[in-house]
Amino acid sequence: MQGCNGRGGAVPAGRGGEKMKVLITGGAGFIGSHLAERLLEQGHEVFAIDNLWTGKLANVAKIQNSERFHLVVDTILNESVMNELIFKADHVYHLAASVGVRNVMDHPVETLDINVKGTEVVLRLANRFKKKVFITSTSEVYGNHMEHTLSEENNRVLGSVKKRRWAYASSKTLDEFMALAYFEEKKLPIVIGRLFNTVGPRQTGRYGMVLPNFVQSALLGKPITVYGDGTQTRSFTHVKDVVGALIKLMDEPRAEGDVFNIGSDQEVAIKDLALKVKEMTQSTSEIEYIPYEKAYGPGFEDMKRRCPNIEKIRNVIGFEPAYDLDSIIQSVIEYFKE
Ligand code: UDP
Repeated sequence: MQGCNGRGGAVPAGRGGEKMKVLITGGAGFIGSHLAERLLEQGHEVFAIDNLWTGKLANVAKIQNSERFHLVVDTILNESVMNELIFKADHVYHLAASVGVRNVMDHPVETLDINVKGTEVVLRLANRFKKKVFITSTSEVYGNHMEHTLSEENNRVLGSVKKRRWAYASSKTLDEFMALAYFEEKKLPIVIGRLFNTVGPRQTGRYGMVLPNFVQSALLGKPITVYGDGTQTRSFTHVKDVVGALIKLMDEPRAEGDVFNIGSDQEVAIKDLALKVKEMTQSTSEIEYIPYEKAYGPGFEDMKRRCPNIEKIRNVIGFEPAYDLDSIIQSVIEYFKE
């Protein structure tokens, strides 16, 4: 494990005060439900729309009885429902998307549909009522980079269109272009966040995400499956750090019309992550290496490395992840033990 960023000066920011009506698309998802909880804690009224494709009612079980929480089970492609919700909202956090590499590989049509058309609906309707929108993007947009750290202004390095994985990165890139176009041409206030491997309680392993899969396998004594040779690296961020960043960026006027990496600068190779999970769970599981082709089917290309430069978000909102890798893994272990 190693740090992949220099340290910078932290400038605490954030406004606060007025209570708002906030719409979260994908509000019953892993990140959306944590965001809903935090906004409710801050006293806001939260409207969530989720088609429960990857979202789950269990994710909002803790908040469903709050008078200030309203869940609409529907697709964001339903324009009349979205029109009403966006009309009512002061702020819109757009998190609904097809997520998880497995999902993208198995459902390419739905992925492109929801990521492209869904965001188009959100931006067009937000523009109708001039409501501020947070667009949740992804580190995938950088593509297969070998840069030491990824900065917001870096070029993108995407693979062939025959490699299905890149459909996801391309759809999210188009979302960013659309949001910036609305900002520049229509003066719609938007902020874009590129999330780097967000993990934590409630994330399911069903769509291929590595940490919940490793922890579940380790606790069950099943093989911990490392895809490829395990030298590929990732930087994991706890969902609670991520939702804090989303809210601060949304509330910070200097962030408008701009793109921010949201991630941690602690980088780990996947084979080392497997060892760490095995050790922290005191598991007897074997660590098994599986070729990519076997794990994802043909047409897959992995990202060798993915670590954010987080100077920009540090400078604008004083972002500093509170959870290090060990505490992240511990929180996921506790979640699955429960
Ligand atoms: N991975 C793995 N075993 C698993 C699931 C994933 O080795 O059971 C690898 C995967 O190939 C990738 C890394 O872990 O190199 C992170 O995968 P994840 O799907 O969590 O996120 P992403 O690929 O989007 O970074």
